[in-house]
Amino acid sequence: MIETYKKTELEKLIRAHRLRPSKFLGQNFLTDRNIAEKIVRSLNIAPEDRVVEIGPGAGALTVLLAQLAGRVTAVELDRRIMPALREATEGLPAIGLVNEDFLKFDVSAGQAAGEGTAQNAGAFKIVGNLPYYITTAIIAKLYEPPKGGLAPSPPALAVFMVQKEVAERLISPPGKKTYGAISVLVQYYTEAELLFEVSREVFTPKPGVDSAVIRLTPRDLSADDPEASARMFRLVRAGFDMRRKTLRNSFASAGFSEAALLAALETAGIDPIRRAETLSPRDFYAVAKNIPAPE
Ligand code: SAM
Repeated sequence: MIETYKKTELEKLIRAHRLRPSKFLGQNFLTDRNIAEKIVRSLNIAPEDRVVEIGPGAGALTVLLAQLAGRVTAVELDRRIMPALREATEGLPAIGLVNEDFLKFDVSAGQAAGEGTAQNAGAFKIVGNLPYYITTAIIAKLYEPPKGGLAPSPPALAVFMVQKEVAERLISPPGKKTYGAISVLVQYYTEAELLFEVSREVFTPKPGVDSAVIRLTPRDLSADDPEASARMFRLVRAGFDMRRKTLRNSFASAGFSEAALLAALETAGIDPIRRAETLSPRDFYAVAKNIPAPE
């Protein structure tokens, strides 16, 4: 086991494996043990929990996670890093390294890791110092209902390091420039908290932006109709694709009849001349709930 958050150890490992961190893949490695511990602590890991880590890199979080969780599945895209990651995590039980694009990774495989063992009793959690170029795609994969389908079952807890500006968008209230489709998605399915900010100085190589750590806890949506929640995201996409237009015009491209839309807006008490950016996640749901499901 190697403590790669020690800058000297990490640099030795990078040198030994002749790695050149790729900007394209968002490779900025965390070199601060306190921050790594703070991130891992915020997952409240119980010994039986199963954790999927997105983009383990040289293992700064992985090493800590594997000492706490029943099972850790670490999904890393870059084949060149795998030997260094193997070396950093050597000797730690309960760890599975997967060399795959997380966007193609079958999350239910990580969820089911350790099946048939006592570990399987624990909660399923996700963590990552995310590669920033695909933050939105990762969040959409975990929470968004696919076209024509229902939302995937979300992790019991997710903790992500993201670009500070993105964190602000995720927790933005309606009516602000920072409020968009991703804010609605995250805030409808989860309670989103900004836990703390992270300076660019604690990474190697140093990125051009500061970061923030967010935690997403699923909301209890058992009273909501999942079909209506899925319909809601057709409205969200249409509404924010044309965010300067009124709901009456922007929602038109969501594929529902105009009469059904206007009736649903009226029942929900929402004026059709408002814009999508003024609607809360519950407002979107209220409209979707009142649109009849297709025959
Ligand atoms: N967790 C490490 C740390 O904290 O030092 C590395 C974080 S670095 C910001 C992001 C990591 O995600 C890199 O190791 C990068 O290779 C990896 N990555 C990039 N795209 C990925 C993808 N599509 N799927 C899985 N991992 C990816």
